[in-house]
Parts: sequence; C-alpha cells; structure tokens
Amino acid sequence: MIPSLPPTPARHALRGRAVTFGANPFMADPAQALVYEADALILIEDGRITQFGAFDALRDTLPPDTPITHWGDGIISAGFVDTHVHYPQLPMIAAYGEQLLEWLERYTFPTEARYADPDYASDVARRFLRELLRAGTTSAAVYCTVHPQSVDAFFTESARLNTRMVAGKVLMDRNAPANLRDTPQRGYDESLALIDRWHQHGRQLYAVTPRFAATSTEEQLDLAGSLLRQREGLFMQTHLSENLAEVEWISHLFPNRASYLDVYAHAGLVGPRSVLGHGVHIDEGTFHTCHAAGCALAHCPTSNLFLGSGAFRLFDALDPRRPVRVGLGTDVGAGTSLSQLQTLNEAYKVAQSTGRRLHPAQAFWLATAGGAHALYLDDRIGTISPGMEADLCVLDPHATPLMAQRAEQCQTIEDLLFVLMMLGDDRSVRATYVAGALVHDRDAPAGQPA
Ligand SMILES: [Zn+2]
Repeated sequence: MIPSLPPTPARHALRGRAVTFGANPFMADPAQALVYEADALILIEDGRITQFGAFDALRDTLPPDTPITHWGDGIISAGFVDTHVHYPQLPMIAAYGEQLLEWLERYTFPTEARYADPDYASDVARRFLRELLRAGTTSAAVYCTVHPQSVDAFFTESARLNTRMVAGKVLMDRNAPANLRDTPQRGYDESLALIDRWHQHGRQLYAVTPRFAATSTEEQLDLAGSLLRQREGLFMQTHLSENLAEVEWISHLFPNRASYLDVYAHAGLVGPRSVLGHGVHIDEGTFHTCHAAGCALAHCPTSNLFLGSGAFRLFDALDPRRPVRVGLGTDVGAGTSLSQLQTLNEAYKVAQSTGRRLHPAQAFWLATAGGAHALYLDDRIGTISPGMEADLCVLDPHATPLMAQRAEQCQTIEDLLFVLMMLGDDRSVRATYVAGALVHDRDAPAGQPA
C-alpha cells in the first residue's frame, strides 16, 4: 500500500529560485543561455504553466486565493528527461563482472524472461516509476521487454501517474533465448495492437523498439520501419555502436551495409523521433548522417563506464557546424543510477577524459531542455515557460551536510548547479510535480510519491 499525497489544486503557484533555458548552451554562451530567477513565481493552471517570472513582478497579477507553495532556497527546474532506460532491468542493476554481450546473456535475458508474468511486470513498473519521480525525472524513453504485457503494465502505471512517457515492446527474433523471441509478424502485430491501445492515449507515446541489429533479422527491421509509417508521431528506439565487440558482430551480420547506422537507415528506422542509445564508437560520417536525418543519440555515461564500453564524444556530437540532437540516458540496468544528477557527474568526467569541459549550464540543459529537444517534445516539456506542461522538480542544494558546507561557498548559480551535479542524487530532489500535481515530496511523513 502506497500512501497518497493530498491532491494538488488545479490552480496553484510555486515560489523559489528557478533555473531554465532561453537558448541552447552548446550553441550560445552557456552563462547567457541559462535563465535564473532568484525569487521566481510559477503559476500553474490545469497542468500547464501559465505565468513565470520574478515574484515581485507577478505577485499582483495572481488570481485571488491562489495557493502558493514557497520552496525557500530550493531550486525549481523543469523535470529531468531520461532518453534511454530499461524499466525491466531495475531488479538487476549492479550486476557484476561482464561487458555488453556477456552481460546480456548472463543477467539481462534471464531477468527479462520474468516479465511474461503480468503481476511481476506491474510490480516493477510501479517501483520503477516511483524511483524516477524520486530522482526528479518526469519523462523517459523506456524499453519494456518482448512481452506485450510488460508494455501494458508500464503504460497503465504511467497513465495513472499522468507522466509523459515514451515506451515500447522490444522486438527480438534471433540471437536471444527462445522464451524472449518473437517473429517478424508477431512482433509487428503485437506492436500495432499496443500502438492502438497506448499511443497518444493521454500523455503516453509509443516507440517501436527493436533491441538492436544483432537481435532482429532484416525482415523484422523492415517490418519495424513499416510500423513507423502506420501512425503519426511514433518514436523509434534502439542501440547503436555501444561496444567494440558488438560493432564487429554487426559488421559480420550485415556485410552489405556501409555502417552500423546504415543497417537501421536501410530499414527506414532513422529520422525525427528516432533515439539511438550510446553511439560510442561512431565516426564523423555517422554524426553527419544523424544530423541530416534529425535522429537523436542518447548519451549514457554511467552505463558506458560500468560496462567498459568507451567514452562518448559529446562535444563532437554537438559540434555547432552539424549538431546532432543528444539527450542524457541512465540506461539502467547497465547504468548505475536513475538519478540524472549522478548521470551528469559521470558525463562531466567522461567529457574531461576527452579533453572537454562540460559547463553546468550545458549539463542541466542536457538533462532537461536538451532531452526534450532530442525527443521532439521541447514544445511541451523541458523548460519553464508559459504554455509548457508543468513537469517540475525542486532541487535541494543542502541535502547532505557535505553539500550544505560546499554550497555555502558558492558565489553563482553556475557554481551551485555544479555542486548539485557532482554531489547530488535522489536525496537532493526535494519534490517533483507531474502536470502540475505534486507526486513526490521527500519530506512528507510518508515520504512516498502518489
Ligand atoms: Zn540500453
């Protein structure tokens, strides 16, 4: 039994410090792109932000009797966006010892087989979404398993919470255990039924989800491409060039394709709303194709470090001469945390290892507006401004004694954001709002989201 928080009124306002973005800090001066309001007021009506600005300027414009929640020196941000994560792998996070292909065989496939049981799927989906909200993440692109019931379980819970989620059934018709394989036709039929049930149902969005090129035949990839053309606004998610042994394997499985990305492009899977996980081992030509196609790469630093996959070249991907859309992914269960703050911690270190410096404004942009941009959802989520859906989190820079003493020395908001991304985790998320409703309050007596 999960205790519920009291319902949030349809019209209410938040007051506190606020950060958001007026521009892309990889294209403009990061300090200029960051919008900081030291004493902000955010008016929320029917799930959307209707006013945002300085408290002093807006206080007299509020409709009478609007309740205001004052978050003190908490920092209000758009909710985090996780562009690559596997909910069924939550129970096997922190699995020891292997790199990608052995890790899939030894840990992932046996874990995913359990999702044939709809009750198990519902239980994990509930726990996963609760963990996301505790981490301040309000939207994610989520892999389910090959079982349609794993998708129903996920969307049922997401619809209950009213979170904006992108998810889909994994397609896998070869190089996987028999109990995790579909066939091209069955994968197509099951996906289409799920699309009709869930795509654009409330805030839910469907992603056609071939796991990766090694676990789908060419016929299945072609049918996945055909699925994408059946309905407007569908997403596509898969993995690309994560690990060197995988890249080598793909080149043997598809000897006639010019590159790994070309395997997907040939099947009609690469375009706007295509999200390719990792892209660690790709060359300039592939970056260029991604830019031209409008697809996105999901940068998953905790996963890449955990599996020893390599260092993603973030600044090459985002080269302003041919920028590729990039979001941040936790990639749990290969990732080691659902917290975007922890993910930024590792993203900073990976950038350092490639000789580049990830500015805190660039980092927080990736975790919010950049993720929304990668998913083509930046007209709805990812920033704080009138008209946007009110998915927000409130960050506490004093969440631990160490953070509190470090935060005291900060002179600028950039310094404070950097402390949050290096020392912060779910403890630093004071509260989370979904479509205007409070769904997580760290310090509520129950301490649980709705
Ligand atoms: Zn993944």
